[in-house]
Amino acid sequence: MLGVVVDTAVVSQRRAIVLDHVRLIDGTGTPPVEAGRVVVEGDRIVAVGAEDRVPLPAGAERLDLTGYTITPGLIDLHFHIENDPKLALRQLSHGITTFRDPGQWEEKFVELRKMIAADGIAGPRIFTAGPHIDGEHPAYPDDAVVARDADEARWFANRALDDGATALKIYFRLPWAGAKAVIDVCRARRVPCTAHLEILDARELFLAGLHGVEHITSLGVSLLPRVEAERYRQAVLANNDARREGRYRAFASLDLDSPRAKALYKVLHDRRPWIDATLAVFEQRSGTVPEGVKPEQMADRIAGFRTMQTLTGRVAREGARIVMGGHSTVPFAVRGEAPWRELELLVASGLTPLEALTAATGTAAGFLYRSDQLGTLAPGLAADLVVYRGNPAANIGAVRTAERVMVGGTWIDVARYRRY
Ligand SMILES: [Zn+2]
Repeated sequence: MLGVVVDTAVVSQRRAIVLDHVRLIDGTGTPPVEAGRVVVEGDRIVAVGAEDRVPLPAGAERLDLTGYTITPGLIDLHFHIENDPKLALRQLSHGITTFRDPGQWEEKFVELRKMIAADGIAGPRIFTAGPHIDGEHPAYPDDAVVARDADEARWFANRALDDGATALKIYFRLPWAGAKAVIDVCRARRVPCTAHLEILDARELFLAGLHGVEHITSLGVSLLPRVEAERYRQAVLANNDARREGRYRAFASLDLDSPRAKALYKVLHDRRPWIDATLAVFEQRSGTVPEGVKPEQMADRIAGFRTMQTLTGRVAREGARIVMGGHSTVPFAVRGEAPWRELELLVASGLTPLEALTAATGTAAGFLYRSDQLGTLAPGLAADLVVYRGNPAANIGAVRTAERVMVGGTWIDVARYRRY
């Protein structure tokens, strides 16, 4: 009796799953394949392509997905876990099979890792960055380590990587020498180095080897006229909160064709850094005044946000690699839907729906140095994928029609995690 049970388990584990007659968006940016087939065995994709070119394995479990669309599992490169591990599982039910938290202690992921293990699922796949490496008077003391000089910055950088971080994040009060030390550690150890900048010049840091930036606003100091840039810098150095209204004001008046802007675009073209715009967290709408904001500040907020969107479309055309960061909690998305809102805003900023989907899949895997494991539908890669009722390559809002989510070859319980 026991022998029979074991045999059944072995057979069912090896039985291939075929997803048939489905529109395929493979994450590389190439146009969709209209009548496609994906073959999954164990936790991997073993074959993918037009259905007349992919042989049907014997004894496979076949799922007819006529009218549906498949993308690789989405990668959210800016997810803050805070004290809410369930949010990561809710996002998983929306198709986010991988996330990167851009700045947090490893201890904060213990509970989520336990939940994932208890449920026997392969994801969400977690990439961490250790706490922010910030300077004195850090913006978020609980999530940061304070480096007082380059040696300390280097030491914190190495410690975070030894603890398991797969990226590092420079935070905006870290002085130049410290930032350079963190970049050098990342380059030596081949991990991505990203930054939230308000005070340092992104153009100069890209030239020094910075991999990418979080928030489109990180480009502000590179774009403002130098006198204004220094005034903004001193205001933020005196009071971290000066950035809240200050960046909208600065963006409201930005000239995206100035000589400073063109100098930045030249570096974007040559270095091709990754830019995670996180537009959804900055979104402003007329008629909605956020808490703590005065009505007379709304004109700058709306104009500033519009320029942030224009700049995002512009840097994409100038050569930056756009990725997708949902930022967990944003003004115009309900719980767990920030990545969907971010994708919609990327399209509203000038990316095509296919480019936005590529930002959240193939390009994001490239940011993580994981293109050989994740992010596209290709033989040998993890079987992480999302099935949609609609076609997000035609209309990005159709990401909201995600119905099934597979991670590591297993369908997750979408209904259950949508209650989280
Ligand atoms: Zn953030």
